[in-house]
Amino acid sequence: MSFSDMPVDVGPVYEGERIRGNQMLVELGGPKIDKKFELVRINQKAVDGKVVINGPDLKDMEKGKQYPIGIFVEVAGKVLEEDLEAVFERRIHEFLNYINGVMHLNQRYTTWMRVSQQAFEKGLNTFELIGTILIRLFKAELPIVEKAQVTFYTNDKEIAKPHAMAMDVYNARDERARGLHDDDVDMFYGCVLCQSFAPTHACCITPDRTSLCGSINWFDARAAAKVDPKGPIYEVPPGECYDKLAGHYSGIDEMMKKRSLGEIEKVYLYSGMEYPHTSCGCFEAIDFLIPEIGGHGIIDRNHDGVALNGLPFSAMANQTGGGKQMPGFNGISIQYIASPKYQQYDGGIETIVWMGKNLKDRVNEFLPADLRDKIATEEDVSDINALQKWLEDVKHPIINTDAYKNAVGGGEEEEEEEYEAEGAMVPMGTQSFVVPGAGGAGGFKVILKNCKIHAESIIIKRIDNKKKK
Ligand code: SF4
Ligand code: ZN
Repeated sequence: MSFSDMPVDVGPVYEGERIRGNQMLVELGGPKIDKKFELVRINQKAVDGKVVINGPDLKDMEKGKQYPIGIFVEVAGKVLEEDLEAVFERRIHEFLNYINGVMHLNQRYTTWMRVSQQAFEKGLNTFELIGTILIRLFKAELPIVEKAQVTFYTNDKEIAKPHAMAMDVYNARDERARGLHDDDVDMFYGCVLCQSFAPTHACCITPDRTSLCGSINWFDARAAAKVDPKGPIYEVPPGECYDKLAGHYSGIDEMMKKRSLGEIEKVYLYSGMEYPHTSCGCFEAIDFLIPEIGGHGIIDRNHDGVALNGLPFSAMANQTGGGKQMPGFNGISIQYIASPKYQQYDGGIETIVWMGKNLKDRVNEFLPADLRDKIATEEDVSDINALQKWLEDVKHPIINTDAYKNAVGGGEEEEEEEYEAEGAMVPMGTQSFVVPGAGGAGGFKVILKNCKIHAESIIIKRIDNKKKK
């Protein structure tokens, strides 16, 4: 496959490319745009190589502005089946990031892209080229795709209908997956598509734990592993179940150890606090511990503003992602919230005390009926003190737990001290402090990300520049 006829380079080497606001021609989708989507469907009548643009093309767009984006890929091939659509769809992220001058984040209805000014000046000035690159990559990387066509939607009017259609498709996929549970199957799956960004991360995909990007459920993974067993999505025999409550399986441990190159040895599928599932960067939401309450909050990628702890999604995402196990910060799919096994090892859905309003509205029907009105949102409370009062007023079940009593100070003092004395490591969040330079001005800023602090002493020494070679 050659891209020598293209005005910009194309290849995996560009996958990590970031395009900042001041480098971009335009932004497509993203948090400021209401409707955006990407969808793959099988259509045996797809016309190979065809690219259609509905709405303004790149060259007609105003520099520095945001536009809606819909990317609809139709594929044909003799052995294709519907379950493969979601898995193919996930590859859009990877393939678009191969293009030098295009940055693509997220998936499904959260697509966020930027095209750089530099790429535009080199000649990447039409979606025709982006669509052609996408089609070539689909056929080259997924040989069972025999034909592919792409349609782009780039304004509010054109995107409305296909966006609604895409939302129906996502809902149907999710609904089907909700009917199946981990105990009903004898095979789990793994995915390492995100290792280019997070080299120690692998997703465990089970009926109850849809992949954390939300785009690959158990059925999708099964179909992908069937057509390409040696590919990035593969079978994981569960093996022995050591602990049903935790979701601790020998097969998952073995897989994680192998795929993380020994970095991760043990994973509890249903815990965000002990041996939690690792997170790459594309999780739909974050389950985070609220230490002052002993309960958990959930913030999703589309949340506007900050969570109860004063942090926006982006700041929490920094310490959640990267393929590490971060107790207290767990990247999750929205679908997982609906599972009866949701973080059951930590106390389950009843430990959730706060959720972003839009997210809560979305999952409301899947929450236990007697809990729905007891989970606060940003519309109900704005800080920890208000949350504590709220929880007591509505009689949230958390208030009867030891975790809550200890956290708010009503628990046994002794226990608290013991906890400290053991030197237990607790999530510290992102810490930042400024060390001033001698004489007042200058100095440097130290930012510690993903940190757990446990030190007997800290020594700060002045470096004598003259001794440096
Ligand atoms: Fe695969 Fe997980 Fe990445 Fe989704 S988040 S593409 S399932 S590794
Ligand atoms: Zn990822």
